Amino acid sequence: MTDAEGGIAALFDDLVTLAANCRFRDCQHETEPGCAIRQALDQGQIDAPRVARWRKLAAEERFNSSTLSERKMQGKSLRKMVKASQQKKNRR
Ligand SMILES: [Zn+2]
Repeated sequence: MTDAEGGIAALFDDLVTLAANCRFRDCQHETEPGCAIRQALDQGQIDAPRVARWRKLAAEERFNSSTLSERKMQGKSLRKMVKASQQKKNRR
C-alpha cells in the first residue's frame, strides 16, 4: 500500500467502509446493482459532492499506481538490454 492510498482511505474512511458492502469488489459506484454507496446516497446518509471527490481521487490513485508498475517493468527490460549488449562487448 502506498502513502497516497492510505491517505485516501483515512480521509474517506466512512465511504471506504460503506464500499466494502457493495455487491461487486470492483464497484465504480455508478450504475452497479447492489451498490452500498448509491444506497447511502439515496438515503441521504452521505454527501454526493464528497463521494464524487473520493471517486476522483481513487481513480487517480489507480492510474498513478498502474503507470508506476509499467515504468518499473520498462526499467527492468532496459537493464536486461544493457546487460546483454555489455556481454556481447566482453566476448569480443
Ligand atoms: Zn458501489
